[in-house]
Formats: sequence, structure tokens, C-alpha cells
Amino acid sequence: MKITIIGGGLAGCEAALQLAKRGIQTDLYEMRPEKTTGAHSTEYLAEFVCSNSLGSNDVYSASGLLKQELRFMDSFLIKFADECSVPAGNALAVDRTLFAQKVTAAIKENPNINLINKEITDIPTDTPVIIASGPLTSESLTQKIMEFTGRDNLYFFDAIAPVIEKDSIDFNKAFWANRYNKGEDAAYINCPMIKEEYEIFYEKLINSPTIELKEFEKGAKFFESCMPVEVMAKRGKDTLRFGPLKPVGLTDPRTNIENYAVIQLRQDNKAATLYNMVGFQTNLKWGAQKELIHCIPGLENAAIVRFGVMHRNTFIFSPFVLAPTMQARIRKTLFFAGQITGVEGYTESIATGLLAGINAARFLENRELLTLPSITMLGGLCSYITHMEHKNFQPINSNWGLLEPPVKQKDKKLRHKMLAERALDYFAGIELLNQN
Ligand SMILES: Cc1cc2nc3c(=O)[nH]c(=O)nc-3n(C[C@H](O)[C@H](O)[C@H](O)COP(=O)(O)OP(=O)(O)OC[C@H]3O[C@@H](n4cnc5c(N)ncnc54)[C@H](O)[C@@H]3O)c2cc1C
Repeated sequence: MKITIIGGGLAGCEAALQLAKRGIQTDLYEMRPEKTTGAHSTEYLAEFVCSNSLGSNDVYSASGLLKQELRFMDSFLIKFADECSVPAGNALAVDRTLFAQKVTAAIKENPNINLINKEITDIPTDTPVIIASGPLTSESLTQKIMEFTGRDNLYFFDAIAPVIEKDSIDFNKAFWANRYNKGEDAAYINCPMIKEEYEIFYEKLINSPTIELKEFEKGAKFFESCMPVEVMAKRGKDTLRFGPLKPVGLTDPRTNIENYAVIQLRQDNKAATLYNMVGFQTNLKWGAQKELIHCIPGLENAAIVRFGVMHRNTFIFSPFVLAPTMQARIRKTLFFAGQITGVEGYTESIATGLLAGINAARFLENRELLTLPSITMLGGLCSYITHMEHKNFQPINSNWGLLEPPVKQKDKKLRHKMLAERALDYFAGIELLNQN
């Protein structure tokens, strides 16, 4: 039996090559060059739409660990990236044209892959399918995916708030409390500001540079609840104090006073190592964002694991729609891969493409599907995006907070080294992945 793959981007190509390696035939549909996304500019498969970097190559960094795991799992695209790398310090950056040409040639030359340059406008039901149509999925297919997931489970635009490592927050200034002390346990971290601090923060916020939206993104509409904090701030000096930064009901238990403004952080992962800034979605340039966050009391040394971003991004509500195997919960013949699953980044898209490819093959062979444990970066990533309790699901890239259980080690470098070695030991112990 054949598998249909929709989208010849990073995830779709990795999935196709994984299936082909296992002797399974695929029809790989790619709508370019006939129809473009607005961001892609070549006729090649697996095009890097923006930067040419796949992030750090240091195995003791989160992104580097994910790449190393992919090498263990015999990722084709990471192998091509290694072959096309250009000097970039610790990062894995590639000659993007060479890379895309290599992937395109590998797909075209593979007898198990039938590349068809055509837009798919509906989800096929006659074969198992991997949807890997990316953040800029064509409109007609988006409509059909929405019919499948339900309207509330498909998003079109990212307006993401920054995520901070809890260990980097200064709890001499921040305090735990729920508004009006509702609920049993204090779940929110609160960074209080007096009037003078708020005024400094406010001036910085409204004067910070933002990232300019691309032409194809300009028509997109924001939901009011996704309004960037800097746009809201420009409506008036006190708008934020009556909105996401409102201090009412948040009395500091140490001083018993209510502050002038409060920035709240809410738990972002099961391990409670990551916290996102509530209502703080932003499109500020990353340097400016860092400066702004570091002027907030308690966050002076905050380690920002994900900056706020905004761009057009079609992604499904994976906690509801997907299982950690990348398989749709309600249709076992349907898999999703790449950025459309709510992972963020080139390497993460390749990684979920690899897992979807392996699992689609296992599905056809009536074998148990692969779920990686959260001690690995890929396992942690898949667990995060498919975890049912996320109410405020937003796309995520690889980061240390995804790994579970967390290890107890105060020294950050040592902690990351321990986490990385634990993950790599796991892969060293399961050679079978390469054959299967
Ligand atoms: C503007 C922009 C900039 C980004 N910059 C970066 C960055 O610098 N670094 C980073 O790590 N990540 C970046 N990302 C995020 C993400 O890593 C990339 O989008 C990545 O390419 C996603 O891989 P993918 O395989 O999921 O999708 P893609 O690589 O986009 O592949 C999807 C493919 O599906 C095709 N397609 C869509 N609809 C259909 C259809 N109906 N029928 C057939 N084919 C279809 C598209 O033409 C495309 O080739 C960016 C995203 C965007 C939107």
C-alpha cells in the first residue's frame, strides 16, 4: 500500500525518505512551483524560507541535542545539512541552495518516491496520509483540515508570549499567588512593579522597535486576545494596568500590599520548569524584548527560552488532535508532521517528519508505533505538543524544560550536560531504531 504525503518541505521530505528507506512507496505532493506560499522563492523541495541556520550544533544545547538525536535516528535531512554546512561557529548553518538541491535530487532519484507537483485541496481517504503542508498551508487544504479538526482547533496566526526558565527568576522580588487567592495552590509567579518601575517599563515598551511584518502576512487579522502587548500599550498609559498587567487581587504575601502593576507568569510545561508571560504576546525585536524583560523586577536575569513572535502560522491544536506518535487521535490513517503540529523551527520540523515517517511505516506493517520518552528532546517535544492539559497551547521549539524528569543540579551547564547525556544514552541503547 502507498502513503500520500502532502508538502515537500522539511518534514514531508524527511518523512518520504524514511518511508522509502523502509521499502514503502509514497506519493509526495508539492504544490510549488505551480502555486507558491508567498515565503518560498525557489522550485526546490525543502527550502529554508528565512535564516540558513538550524541552530546550535553543541550537543549540550537543547537544539544541538535534538540534532544529535536525529543523527542517531538516521535523519536524511540532518545528514544533508551536515554535508552542506558553512562556517557558523557553534551553529549548523547550511548553503541553502546546495541543501535544497541535494534533498530534491534524493527525492527525485528514489524509486520508492513519486513526486507530484500539484496542490492537494482535500485530505485523501483512500490511502494513509501525512499532512506536512507547513505554516503556510494553502487555503483550500486549510479549510479541509479545519473541517477535520473542528474550527476551534486550527490557528492561523502566531502571537506568542515569551517563555522563561523558572530557575532564572529572582524570588526575592517575585512572589507566588493566584488572583484573590483563588484555588488551593498558588500557581502564578508574580513580578510586582511600583509606579516608577512601571513608568520606566512603559516608556521602554512603547519605544522599542518591532519586527516588520512580511508582505504576505499583512492581510492577516489578529484576534483581540492575541493583540501584541506593545500595540495594546499604545492605546493609553494605563491600558495594560487594566488588562494583562492589572494588580488587583494580587497582594504580595510578604508585604501585604497591592502593587501598581503586576506581570504574571503561568506554568508552561508539565515539569514546571518553564513559565510563560501571561498576555505578553509581542512582536518586538528580540534584542529589545530581552532588554525590556530584564528591566522587570524579578526577571533581571531571566533566561528566555522562547521569544515572543508573530507571523502567519497555520497549526493544529495538537493537544486535542494528535497522539505523541504524530497520529490523529480520531483517524488512525492520518498523521501530521512539521510546523503544522505546533513545533517551531527547522530542526523540530525535520524531527517530527522523521517520527511521522517511521510511525506511518510501522502502521502499515501492523507494528506498534514509536513513542519516545520525555528524557529525549524529541520525546519531550512530542509529549509537550500532544499533552491534553494545555489550555494555552502555542508552538514551541526544543528547550531544556521539555525534558522529564528534571535533574537536580544547580549549575546550569552541568545540568544541561547531564540531561543531554541521559538522552544520548537512551539512543545508544536502542540501535534498533536505525533498522526499523
Ligand atoms: C516566514 C517564515 C519564516 C521562518 N523562519 C524560520 C527560521 O528562520 N528558522 C527556523 O528554524 N524556522 C523558521 N520558520 C519556521 C519553520 O521552521 C519553517 O516554516 C519550516 O520550513 C517548517 O517546515 P515544514 O516542513 O513544516 O513546512 P515547509 O517547509 O513550509 O513545507 C511545507 C510545504 O508544503 C507545501 N504545501 C502547502 N500547502 C500545500 C498543498 N495544499 N498541497 C501541496 N503542497 C502544499 C508548501 O509549498 C511547502 O513546500 C519560519 C516560518 C515562516 C512562515
